[in-house]
Amino acid sequence: MTQPHGGPVPHGSPGSSGHPGSHADPPLVPVEEHLADVLAAIRPADPVWVPLVHADGSVLAEHVTSTTPLPSFDNSAMDGYAVRAADLAGASAGTPVTLPVRGEIAAGDTGDYRVEPGSSLQIMTGARLPEGADAVVPVEWTDGGAAVAVFRQAPEPGNAVRHRGDDVADGAVLLPEGTLVGPVQIALLAASGHAEVLARTPPRVAIISTGNELVEPGTPLIPGQIWESNSFMLAAAARRAGATVRRHRLRDDPEVVLSTLEGLVSDADLLITSGGVSMGGEHDVVKAALSKLGTIAFRKVAMQPGMPQGFGVLGPDLTPIFTLPGNPVSAYVSFILFVQPALDALKKLSPQRQPLADAALTTSVRSPRGRRSYLRGILDPARETVVPLTGQSSHQLGALAQANALIIVPEDVTRLEAGDGVDVMCLP
Ligand code: AMP
Ligand code: MG
Repeated sequence: MTQPHGGPVPHGSPGSSGHPGSHADPPLVPVEEHLADVLAAIRPADPVWVPLVHADGSVLAEHVTSTTPLPSFDNSAMDGYAVRAADLAGASAGTPVTLPVRGEIAAGDTGDYRVEPGSSLQIMTGARLPEGADAVVPVEWTDGGAAVAVFRQAPEPGNAVRHRGDDVADGAVLLPEGTLVGPVQIALLAASGHAEVLARTPPRVAIISTGNELVEPGTPLIPGQIWESNSFMLAAAARRAGATVRRHRLRDDPEVVLSTLEGLVSDADLLITSGGVSMGGEHDVVKAALSKLGTIAFRKVAMQPGMPQGFGVLGPDLTPIFTLPGNPVSAYVSFILFVQPALDALKKLSPQRQPLADAALTTSVRSPRGRRSYLRGILDPARETVVPLTGQSSHQLGALAQANALIIVPEDVTRLEAGDGVDVMCLP
């Protein structure tokens, strides 16, 4: 940082801080800058009319208002008798009042009924309150009589009555734009008579793992091969982030990679590849296949793990594509930092960041100069401490699986001691 340099260096670039690398290397791109570039390129998906049965997981593209109050008519909250409260004033166990019962109203009965003074009607839960009645007496307060009923308790006016509009007022915003639709929102929409909603459906994500070494779990391995894990991890993470997902596994052949991606792009809202983007080498097939298109930028981001990142667009609809590094920890951290916010942006939600916490390190940690480290750790929120895990290499899934948080070591910090305070990003 104190090192002199010969020329102008982009503002805020960690490339200015004397990190190793030849002078020909472009400076590393700060994490925030890469994320901003990603989000700037994402256009929210077009909203569509979604039938309620398929609306779970969609995000409303407009305010939905009520076209009728809820409930839409005064109705009974209990099984009992519709009465005029004044007729039963003073009724008690010692001085019961008897009223004739002039009929019965069930839920769904659309007839017009009226309670005349000095009489009652049997009424069921959800049945429309008859004219003249101002209270419902639960059957438990009576002898349950069918022709004549004995009332042993006096109701207040309005007792056990659900009033028109006491749930949702006429014309009220039922659900604002940007609401994530789940079971309860679907119920409210249905109860308000909406059969479909204008919404953005869960983005369709295609996940493509590349590597000649990759073998599907459940099939035998030959030494030199590994069981493929990234596509499963990324698929689960994308589903949790509200996407629908398809997985694909490809061999290291740039032509196959390119033609597969071009085939998938028409049925996907977002593409994610893993592997094949390291810094050179003929085996970096994703980079080799996509570089020539010119619509995808491959860059080094000032982070560890996850330095090699590619992002751009592909196909006639300019479908966003992330080319994530192949090491599983790198791929996951990249997903959390860049892909998850992009999925929010596709739904026109403001991109969520994972929650941050302050904690004290339980042991010292190291970090490369010029790169922000995301070290795997176990956060104890009660003690406000974080334990850096053993196994911080980017292939070490075992440690990642134990972690509940990422310890963030800033770009200009190379060592922190036990007891030092750090920012910690909670993992989903
Ligand atoms: P690459 O970026 O293709 O050079 O891969 C970097 C490392 O990640 C290598 O050790 C790969 O074997 C590993 N790797 C790449 N893709 C996957 C995957 N889908 N599942 C598990 N490991 C992978
Ligand atoms: Mg590879």
